[in-house]
Amino acid sequence: MDNKFPGKDITKEDIRTKFPLCAKKNPNHRSVFNAAGVKFGGKNLVIFAGPNMVESRKLIFEVAKNVKKFGADFLRGGAFKPLTFPYRSSKYTETREQGIQWLKEAKEKYNIPVITEVMEEKYIPLVAEVADIIQIGSRNMQNYPFLTKCAKTMKPIMLKRHYGASLRDWLGAAEYILCEGNEKVILCERGVSVPHTHRVTSRYLLDLQVVPAAQEITHLPVVTDPSHATFWSNWVRPMALASVAAGANGVMLEVHPDPKNSAIDPLQPINFKEFRKLTVEMKKIFNILKK
Ligand code: PEP
Ligand code: MN
Repeated sequence: MDNKFPGKDITKEDIRTKFPLCAKKNPNHRSVFNAAGVKFGGKNLVIFAGPNMVESRKLIFEVAKNVKKFGADFLRGGAFKPLTFPYRSSKYTETREQGIQWLKEAKEKYNIPVITEVMEEKYIPLVAEVADIIQIGSRNMQNYPFLTKCAKTMKPIMLKRHYGASLRDWLGAAEYILCEGNEKVILCERGVSVPHTHRVTSRYLLDLQVVPAAQEITHLPVVTDPSHATFWSNWVRPMALASVAAGANGVMLEVHPDPKNSAIDPLQPINFKEFRKLTVEMKKIFNILKK
């Protein structure tokens, strides 16, 4: 993954031959579609919120209830989690099939659709049964046979950008989904890996420029995940607001009732009160720009 300047290595020839299905047919072309009754790509800001991990039934119920009340369109949360290191205390244990069942129950009880990640082919049917949107994590962005298998479920798919992928790589991966006839693809920018000097402040850098850059080339909706990008909850609000200002079609946020006790990355989630305030602010900015 070579490109440091998203968009710069994309030629007209690429658009015609490498990702014709992702590419806009004219400057105003944009995909507008429904996923679980929520409109993507239109005059609507889509908000995804929830914990990093589906830690317990109690947690996912509490989060579903509160994020729904405060304006989330989708409940997020991983039952299958890509963790950077293999060693885990019991607190970090993925809840896997059990977690998917809890998501299903929370979705039904609080009437909120669900987005959740699948990492292994054998779990695609299980996840597709419960998820309204299947999340493909950044680490799987270029696992092409896996993308094809997920695409074949015909479920809406969120394709997170790998932190080392150029826009060209990202659109190439999205094309694998579209060419299976699955047109409901949402692109999610979640922070890119940057030189060591920057990592003193942050593990990843939210690439806000890729929002307009992608929207120049593709008709697909583009959303951001400021939580995974910044890693620090204090920076989530400014970067979420900046995402909306940059033209994002949606924002994914990690929300936890007690962030410091989050099983994973406890510095990252915002709490319910912060989420409530932030959704109001994001919608204000979105509505100003819509006019
Ligand atoms: C997540 O959203 O839970 C996640 C693991 O994200 P990413 O794949 O972007 O790291
Ligand atoms: Mn995570």
